[in-house]
Amino acid sequence: MTAATLERGLTALKEHIDAPVAAFFSSCVHCGLCAEACLFYTETGDPKYAPIRKLEPLRRQWRREYTLVGRLGALLGLIKPLTDDELAEWAHLIYDSCTMCGRCTLVCPVGNDLTYMIRKLREGMAASGHARKGLVEAAKKTIKLGSPMGVQLPALNAQIRRVEAEVGLPIPVDVAGVDYMVILSSMEVIQFPEIIGALARIFDRAGVTWTIPSSGFEATNVGIQIGSRDIAEEIVRRVVEAAEKLRVKYVISPECGHAYVALRWEGPNLLGRPYRFEVIHLMELLAKLRAEGRLPLAGKHDQRVTFHDPCQIIRRGGIDQEPRDLLNEITEDFAEMPDAGIWNWCCGGGGGVSAVDEAEHLRTKVFSRKMCQLDEVHPEQLVTACANCRNIIEEGLEAYNKDIEVIGLTELVAEYLAPDETAPAEGGDGS
Ligand code: SF4
Ligand code: SF4
Repeated sequence: MTAATLERGLTALKEHIDAPVAAFFSSCVHCGLCAEACLFYTETGDPKYAPIRKLEPLRRQWRREYTLVGRLGALLGLIKPLTDDELAEWAHLIYDSCTMCGRCTLVCPVGNDLTYMIRKLREGMAASGHARKGLVEAAKKTIKLGSPMGVQLPALNAQIRRVEAEVGLPIPVDVAGVDYMVILSSMEVIQFPEIIGALARIFDRAGVTWTIPSSGFEATNVGIQIGSRDIAEEIVRRVVEAAEKLRVKYVISPECGHAYVALRWEGPNLLGRPYRFEVIHLMELLAKLRAEGRLPLAGKHDQRVTFHDPCQIIRRGGIDQEPRDLLNEITEDFAEMPDAGIWNWCCGGGGGVSAVDEAEHLRTKVFSRKMCQLDEVHPEQLVTACANCRNIIEEGLEAYNKDIEVIGLTELVAEYLAPDETAPAEGGDGS
């Protein structure tokens, strides 16, 4: 990297050290509890993976720039500026071994939001040219093509036509004035298109008016993952423009963890204004429809299931009861893993880790934590509500030779929709 790029990164770091970051570094009591909360530390035993240690470049920059001792030390040449080599070395700790799962934040006794600080550090890493290649490529594709996997409208349309034929229901695109706009992660479009069919069946049964936008349909926000406020803002803007053009009342955040955080919690701050619609997570909507009596369910799933809590939806999103209420209604044998709910362990691939080739070996290693959790309950199926978790868990189970089926909660709910008594009988004349 050039000296100018390094300088840009250091300036970005300096600019991202705000009052909370300064307060967090000042208040750390070095108790080490955050280490025990992080699966990269617990599964490797390597102290370099302690969350507070991962933040060392940010701490050094804070000390050098914003503390009296640090400034004096810098003047006397005792505290050296960060070098390009040091930042390059840190990419492993900032991108490969942090899923921004938020577990360390939850456990810190003095309330340090370590996840927030990791995000700040990623801003400096990205600006100094040290973001991982997989994330850089995903970001480029998103800006140029609209999606990190290169999924464009023709690919979405092809999946929509296929699903329409399968479920026998229309999938509305670009219908203005409806109540709900659905966005999807490209992983759902390509790998799990059954979610589209499940939505069509549920919304048809519940009388929900909805649409998918032809532009701004991508939910994934790689800007949040790589550490680029500008990219994050652009991705949010595309969704917001689509929703406001179609005059919808709600945008439904799909089965994708960080998309929810990006759109619901960070989006208005990124844009600097409130939305003219509300953001609702799919799990919240299903629970709401159920409470209103618009989601009649019948029958019980008889396989033993457990639920993997996606970090961004449950721990950082607060939607922990809704999926459980739904699962309790439609399953006979729902068993919780140890540490379920807000204390759940990450799948190991969130926060952009799944897009980082260099992280693959470590990601598989730390999946041992999920295996321990699963070994306590012996499920036949694992249900989750995030396509990225689903993908990572499928890969992890394969690596550990474990035969457990992984399914999405929305699809399972759609399977147990009660028959519509008012619908014309199949094979009847319909008169
Ligand atoms: S956010 Fe999660 S993965 Fe990242 S350091 Fe904290 S506990 Fe570890
Ligand atoms: S848990 Fe909080 S106080 Fe303890 S070492 Fe980690 S950041 Fe510092």
